[in-house]
Amino acid sequence: MELPSLRYVSTRGRAPELGFDDVLLAGLATDGGLYVPAAWPQWSKDDFAKLAGLDYPTLAARVMAPFVAGSVIAGDLEKLTRAAYAGFTHSAVAPLTQLGANDWLVELFHGPTLAFKDYALQAVGLMFEDVLKARGSRITIVGATSGDTGSAAIEATKGREAVDIFILHPEGRTSDVQRRQMTTVDAANVHNIAVKGTFDDCQDIVKALFADQAFRGEMNLSAVNSINWARIMAQVVYYVWAALHVGAPARAVAFSVPTGNFGNVFAGYVAQRMGLPIAKFIVGSNSNDILTRYFETGAMTTQGVVPTLSPSMDIQVSSNFERLLFECVGRDGAQVARLMDGFKQSGGYSVPAAAHAEMTKLFVGHRLDDAGTKRVIGEIYRTTGELIDPHTAVGVHAGRVAGLDPAIPRMTLATAHPAKFPAAVQAATGVYPPLPASLTDLFERKERFTVLNNDLSEVKSFVRSHARR
Ligand SMILES: *Cc1c(COP(=O)(O)O)cnc(C)c1O
Repeated sequence: MELPSLRYVSTRGRAPELGFDDVLLAGLATDGGLYVPAAWPQWSKDDFAKLAGLDYPTLAARVMAPFVAGSVIAGDLEKLTRAAYAGFTHSAVAPLTQLGANDWLVELFHGPTLAFKDYALQAVGLMFEDVLKARGSRITIVGATSGDTGSAAIEATKGREAVDIFILHPEGRTSDVQRRQMTTVDAANVHNIAVKGTFDDCQDIVKALFADQAFRGEMNLSAVNSINWARIMAQVVYYVWAALHVGAPARAVAFSVPTGNFGNVFAGYVAQRMGLPIAKFIVGSNSNDILTRYFETGAMTTQGVVPTLSPSMDIQVSSNFERLLFECVGRDGAQVARLMDGFKQSGGYSVPAAAHAEMTKLFVGHRLDDAGTKRVIGEIYRTTGELIDPHTAVGVHAGRVAGLDPAIPRMTLATAHPAKFPAAVQAATGVYPPLPASLTDLFERKERFTVLNNDLSEVKSFVRSHARR
């Protein structure tokens, strides 16, 4: 049966409505907003119950089907999801581990780069390939990374004919594991640039490249950061998967999510809007606690970023929060645009009281500093024998202090493998977490990267001369 095509609208209300394929390639909307479905697909309890027992790739195809209706990938989605998750190192793809009564971990670190971003990007890389092939066009992906996004994007696009990818990282400022996961990939379409500067310098260069309309058009620039709707969509899958494993849709569940850009937890909200019974989302923050402060007060105010043991959550501005805001102000794009303009100018804004009240029915925030993070990693190891990474520890703690009804199964998303952050894990437990077999030779592999000055025109000419247009 063919589903009716789904259209997407911008959260700022002034960009054209698009179908899935255009949303995938566009990333950001032309009015600066983010794309969301014009209407949320609605599923009954029965629709969810029918998915129980399916394997992960089959379930993924079923959950994503309504969102890609009308796309060139709609016809053979299950083939795509099978290929996307074939290389994952756990046969369950996203296994659940039980820490205590109604206290679970959803392990999202069995992909090629050991962080949850693989679960979306491995599928999204194949979607790019299929859509570009159908259109006979190609793209140049440019992105900046401080850690996990760069390697996950490179693994997802390496060797693809229609894609060239350039990832900028700050020279000497990423961890050795993170850098080597990017620089040891040997493929003609992969280009690592080490910028003599900070992560913010890299980010500024990328923003400037996208702002240069002539260059953007000439190179067909595209982005794979978490504002891309396709990534959110592919993340909805493991919320449905995990909830079914602990008794949904017959009973309600709760998720605790270590959060930075709000992309991961927003995917859970999508599952809830489709009809999955989720009683609460617990948003875990490290010392960069803008979201926790927001849920407490209703005011979104930036402070400087401090480095922590959970670097993938060292973020000032959670871009995907705009999607939730849009929903909770009655999908009033003009109002979202006004609030976001104010935020850009003053570094702060207040969410209308009714919208904040609606959000706090479903969302709550809790924070944990580095000392607490080490304490929780140690405690979980002593009481359960499980090694967890610092991001996951923030989530476990947030879930435990949220004061939920103990009868509701609570699942923390384990967003990274402990071996990705070995120093913190060893300090907390005395155990050095070994890299999985697929990566044991990471430190023997040959690295490839080009060092460039913190200079826009240098990066621009490098991209221009190395993309295979
Ligand atoms: C990216 C990342 C996060 C934050 O996810 P968001 O979608 O940005 O909220 C948390 N943990 C790890 C390990 C990550 O790589």
